Amino acid sequence: MLVAGHDERDHFDHEAELMRMEEIAPDAAVAAFPALDPAKVARAAMGARAQDIDTDLLIQSYQRDARSRGAEILFSAPATAIARQDGQWVVTTPKGVFSAKVLINAAGAWADPVAQMAGIAPKGIVPHRRSMARIPAPAGLDVASWPMLLGVNESFYAKPDAGALIVSPADAEPTTAHDAWADDMVLAEGLARYEALMLYPVDRLIANWAGLRSFAPDGAPVYGRDPDQPDFIWFAGQGGYGFQSSVAAARFIADIAAGRPTDAQLRRAIDPARFG
Ligand SMILES: Cc1cc2nc3c(=O)[nH]c(=O)nc-3n(C[C@H](O)[C@H](O)[C@H](O)COP(=O)(O)OP(=O)(O)OC[C@H]3O[C@@H](n4cnc5c(N)ncnc54)[C@H](O)[C@@H]3O)c2cc1C
Repeated sequence: MLVAGHDERDHFDHEAELMRMEEIAPDAAVAAFPALDPAKVARAAMGARAQDIDTDLLIQSYQRDARSRGAEILFSAPATAIARQDGQWVVTTPKGVFSAKVLINAAGAWADPVAQMAGIAPKGIVPHRRSMARIPAPAGLDVASWPMLLGVNESFYAKPDAGALIVSPADAEPTTAHDAWADDMVLAEGLARYEALMLYPVDRLIANWAGLRSFAPDGAPVYGRDPDQPDFIWFAGQGGYGFQSSVAAARFIADIAAGRPTDAQLRRAIDPARFG
C-alpha cells in the first residue's frame, strides 16, 4: 500500500501508476494499517497482487534441492585465490582447493573484487547500503494482516514481521563490500519520516541491521559469460530484487552454463559484455 501525506501529493499518481496500484480512500488505508493517522493521509493506493516471500524458507528450500542433486555447500570458506591452470579454474579456500572448468561469480557485493582475484576486469558493480529497524507492534496491535506500506518517493517502507514491524529508511548509500551495519542517524531520519504519518511514536527499537544491494552502472543485472573469459560466468548486480527474481535468474544462468538457448533480447540487456 502506497501512502502520501498532504505535502506529498505530487509524486503519488506517478508512483501508483508505475506500481500498477489502485487508488483507495484514505479511510480504507487507515482500516488496513490502523497505525496510520487519518488526519495525515492525503491519498493511498493498494497493489492487490503483491505477495510476501518467506526468504528464510526460500533459501532453505534451495539448499535442500541443491543437496538432493549432489551439491556440497561449504560455509566459512572464502575464496582467497583464484587461478587458471590447464583450462581449469583452481580456487583456494580455508576448506580446501577446488577446481572446475566453469566458475560462477555469485559473490553479491564482492562480485567485482572476486572477479579481479580471478584476473577478470570488474564491471563497476557498486554495493549500496540499506538499513532496517525492527520496532514493536504500534500500541500492541495485531499486525499480522497489515500490508507492506510504502511512503511516496521511497521515503520509507514498513511491513509486518513475526508480530512486530520492520521499518526501512529506504537508504541507498554507495559503499564498498563489507559486513554492513545500520547508521543511527539514517535510521532516526527514516523512522521520523515513518512517524510523520502515524498515530503512535516509535519509542523503542527491538533490533536493527543493514545489508548491501549491489548495482551495475545501468541498474540492470550482470548475468552471463565474461566477454574475455567465457568460462567465467557473472551472476551479480541483482540490486534490490535478488530474492524475487531468483527462480527465473537461476534458470537463466543454468541455461547459460549448460549452453542451452536463451531469449536473445533478455540476454543482451543483462550481458556482462555491455560494460566493455
Ligand atoms: C535491507 C535489504 C532489503 C532487501 N529487500 C529485498 C526485497 O524486498 N526483494 C528482493 O528481491 N531483494 C531484496 N534485497 C536484495 C537481496 O537481498 C539481494 O539481491 C540478494 O541477497 C543478492 O543475492 P546474492 O546471492 O547475489 O548475493 P549475497 O546475498 O550478497 O551473497 C553473496 C555471497 O557471496 C559470499 N562471498 C563474498 N566473497 C566471497 C569469496 N571471496 N569467497 C566465497 N564467497 C564469497 C558472501 O559471503 C555472500 O554470502 C534486499 C537487500 C537488503 C540489504
